[in-house]
Order: sequence, then structure tokens, then C-alpha cells
Amino acid sequence: MARYPSQLQQLIQLLKKLPGVGNKTAERYGFHLVSWTAGDLAKLGELLTTVQNALSPCPLCGCYMQELVCPFCEGSQRDRTTICVVASPKEVYLIEETRSYAGLYHVMGQLLSPLEGKSPDPAKIDLLRRRIEEYGVQEVLLAFDSTVEGDATALLLRDKLAGLKAKVTRLAFGMPMGSALDHLDGYTLSRALTGRHHF
Ligand SMILES: [Zn+2]
Repeated sequence: MARYPSQLQQLIQLLKKLPGVGNKTAERYGFHLVSWTAGDLAKLGELLTTVQNALSPCPLCGCYMQELVCPFCEGSQRDRTTICVVASPKEVYLIEETRSYAGLYHVMGQLLSPLEGKSPDPAKIDLLRRRIEEYGVQEVLLAFDSTVEGDATALLLRDKLAGLKAKVTRLAFGMPMGSALDHLDGYTLSRALTGRHHF
């Protein structure tokens, strides 16, 4: 890579941490950013330093709260007999957009990844079990990506939830291995949600 002024070089190195961004794209983004107005850059800088603290996860489901209220746990119209388990808050918004699901959510945060030696927080699994029992949940929908980690986590949860009354289902993917939820168009995700199957 060409030798750029060190601050620009550092910016490009950081941009490469974004998913799908390699050298060329990071360089393009870096040069583009330094052409922004000072005002826009200041706004971006301030958001980058404050956004993480401003997003407080709901202590029950792990979704992001808005002004200390969880829109997914507090909503009286939500169907409390179904819990959809997802990897991160991002999937919650993808699923909400389809308008094909109106139940509760449970964000795992970390999937089981034997290769990286990572596993879900046991406290999150315990909390899921408690929520299922407390609400009398009838269906637990596992909505993970169709990847090694997604499949491994689904198997782990099926095992951990065995003995509870709720049936465990998965999205009806019909997709090649390695597919991620955020690569699906809304129609396909909607069909995967409505056509879920016993697991
Ligand atoms: Zn919540």
C-alpha cells in the first residue's frame, strides 16, 4: 500500500475493520471522509465516541432500549407465547421489517464457535429458560444465520431447552450453507419466518 500521511494511514487501517472492506475500499472511504466539511466530520466523530454508551440493552431480551423502555418487551400487542432467539440486535430490526413476526425476542450476543473457542454466555441461556417458563412460552424460534456457528448454537440451545414445554423451531431457509439473514431480501426472510419448521 502507498505511504500516506500517518493520520490518513491510521484512518484507512481502522476502516478496514469494517465487514467486507478491503484495502481499495478503505482507501476510497478514507479519501472521501477527509473531503467532508469540518461540521460533518465533527458530528461523525462525536457520534462514534458516544453511540456505544447511548445504546443500553434491555436486561430481559437484550434488544436496544429507547429512553429506558424496551419497545419489544413493553409493547402490549406483542405475542408473549413465542420467543425468537437471534444472534444480535441487528437481526431484530430485519425481522421487524418483514412484519411477519409479533412475538418476543432474545438476543444471544455470542454464538457457539468451537473454532474460535467462543460460546454463548450461560447466564443468557439461563435467562431464556426462565423467560420461557415464566411466560408459558409455547414456541422458541431459533433465527440464526445458516452458518457453522448458527447451526452449532441451534443444536446447543435445543439441548439446553430440552424438558421445557415449548417446541423449538428454526427458520425455513432452503438456502445454501453460509447464508446470513442480512443477505436475504424481505420477501425471502418473511417466507422463512412463516414457514419455520420443527427442529
Ligand atoms: Zn426487552
